[in-house]
Amino acid sequence: KELNPDIALIDLKMPGINGMKVLEKIKEINPGIVPIIITGYASVDSAVEAIKKGAYDYLPKPFTPRELRQITKRGLEKKKYIEAENKLKEMKELFVSMVSHQLKSPLSAVQEYLEVILGGYAGEITDKQREMLDRSKARISELIRLIKDWLNLSRIEKDEIVTRFTTVHLLQVLKRAMDFVGDMLEEKNVNLQIDMSPNISMIHGDAELLKQAFINLFENGIKFNKEGGEMHVSVDEKRDYIKVSIRDTGIGISEDEIPFIFEQFYRGKESTKIKESGSGLGLSIVNKVIEAHSGSISVKSKPGKGSTFTVLLPRIKREEIK
Ligand code: ADP
Repeated sequence: KELNPDIALIDLKMPGINGMKVLEKIKEINPGIVPIIITGYASVDSAVEAIKKGAYDYLPKPFTPRELRQITKRGLEKKKYIEAENKLKEMKELFVSMVSHQLKSPLSAVQEYLEVILGGYAGEITDKQREMLDRSKARISELIRLIKDWLNLSRIEKDEIVTRFTTVHLLQVLKRAMDFVGDMLEEKNVNLQIDMSPNISMIHGDAELLKQAFINLFENGIKFNKEGGEMHVSVDEKRDYIKVSIRDTGIGISEDEIPFIFEQFYRGKESTKIKESGSGLGLSIVNKVIEAHSGSISVKSKPGKGSTFTVLLPRIKREEIK
């Protein structure tokens, strides 16, 4: 522990403590140390076991000094790689928190000033000025939304989310997501139809993230819809999973664009023509959230007619609930 080596060469059979235990301890003390197992030909199975437990490689006995040098060299390269990866992760975290503070706060402040001016608290403004300030306010809201979406996206790390999973009632999540888009439905005069049986199995998941994902899907189903159109949400239970379909009667997506819509910052050609704003991050968030829940998402669409997004999420089998 005090030595903090780059590489540890570990014999499997040792008096007092065996190599597997040493391997576990090393992982605990510093996962950046590269462990290499030294083993007799007879115990190749244990070497494989050790690799499963996180050893980087193994060196069978007897070995020549050249073989030892080679494996050590490879181990050191691995060490450099691990360090570079950690550095990148650190930088990413720093960047994310920097963006959140350095960009979001001044933008929120500007937005507040605009409210004050528009509210008439800083003197009278002309109609022309009001119109321009209104537009500035809308643009700033878009930018704040973009930053929020981007922050959300950067924070969704599968390994971390899974540790927060609880038993989730999907219908409640959907209901909350629908409530959230209530005003938008009204504004665009979109008629929401719901088709779901109340007896749906529970799932393992993070209710907040799932809610956000469905909000994004619903928002798309509304904003890309036509005035007075329909959005149909249905929930079905299948053998191993729950299927949620969101069908709309909107502008649709052309076949050649479908492969790109889940990519970060991608916005469809048709969608940029219509007035609705967007960051192009909505579906990449949805995709990441669904993937972290070991689910899947697919889309079918007819340009000019509408689209159907289908989400599958693994259900908890009733037998699994005690
Ligand atoms: P945004 O909505 O901010 O543009 P998204 O990531 O949510 O970004 O969606 C990416 C693109 O996929 C959209 O710009 C649009 O072209 C297309 N799209 C997504 N949902 C729909 C939908 N329900 N109907 C038509 N096009 C859609």
